[in-house]
Amino acid sequence: MLHQRIERMLSRVVPQANQRSYIALQSRITSTRTFASHTSRFRSVSRNVHRPQSRTFSSSGRRCSNGSYNRFNNSGRGPRAPPLIYHLLSRARTEHFVIIGLGASAFYYYNTEVVEMTGRRRLNFISVQHELELGDQAYREILAEHRDRILPDSHPHAKVVRRVLERLIPQARVEGAQWRVHVIKADDVRNAFVLPGGKVFVFTGILPFCKDEDGLAAVLGHEIAHVVAHHSAEGMTRNYLLRSVVTVVSLLFDISAMIPAYLSHYLINLPNSRVQEAEADDMGLIMMARACYNPEAAIAFWQRLVNNKEEHEIHQFLSTHPSNESRIHALNEKLNTAQAIYLDGGCKMANEYMPDFRRAFALHREL
Ligand SMILES: [Zn+2]
Repeated sequence: MLHQRIERMLSRVVPQANQRSYIALQSRITSTRTFASHTSRFRSVSRNVHRPQSRTFSSSGRRCSNGSYNRFNNSGRGPRAPPLIYHLLSRARTEHFVIIGLGASAFYYYNTEVVEMTGRRRLNFISVQHELELGDQAYREILAEHRDRILPDSHPHAKVVRRVLERLIPQARVEGAQWRVHVIKADDVRNAFVLPGGKVFVFTGILPFCKDEDGLAAVLGHEIAHVVAHHSAEGMTRNYLLRSVVTVVSLLFDISAMIPAYLSHYLINLPNSRVQEAEADDMGLIMMARACYNPEAAIAFWQRLVNNKEEHEIHQFLSTHPSNESRIHALNEKLNTAQAIYLDGGCKMANEYMPDFRRAFALHREL
């Protein structure tokens, strides 16, 4: 699968020191592949983000001469040593809990911020500069990977994608972004994504589903929203913390890291990714309305995906993305707000009197 090849490529180029950050970025990139196979995306996330740490038995076990771990005293015949948490709790005093609580509160306070367009409060300690650097690394590699299939800027598809992007960008204030769009000739790939730093990739396979510029604005609005909201940095923060928590819990309770890793993946990571996706849908809808693209096109786009017989979807609970039906339902709830922005801006009149304003793609296949 395409995204798996990209993941392998990313892991090759990332310096060792940045490996963790890059795994998180891979997760973000994978999750921004809104329109790729859900099943393969899920496999990718579970493999990369929460690969359990390899602890053969327990950290408290003694290392045997043959290199394996032994969780029993007296050469495996004695009782199992109590876990570290038992020792800590038996010696803990009230002030220890106060200090830990104050430290955690201070950490949370100084590292939380609000997503401007939605007002959602979230934890993020990755700097914009670091996010841009990782995005730049990924951009160079993806560019090299697809160099032979990138359509020239003069190609009609490249022109129309650039035109839509140029109308959306003023609605999206992103520090340090240098917007650039690349259309990749791959009719079998229904995908589009934007890297931190504003590098946009659109695969030709998604264009028939967009149908026209309004539909394309729905796709690009969603992807740009991920960059505006710095979802990559938020995802990296989450992964750093989860990995730390998984390590500490496995040490404290003397259990395999696999258990807390899978619990945190299903209970924290996946739900949080779905929150980001829903947020990008909301923001994208508002941005496209502000740019005078009909917000109803977003719902029509998802409906076309739902109707497509080739689309396979795993259950929402197991996915980084909401189900397509959930997205349509949520978008419908936001539609009135977006329509008000669209109508108040005089967009409806402008579009009716300027039929060329929304040019349709020359579809190379019927849906
Ligand atoms: Zn997305």
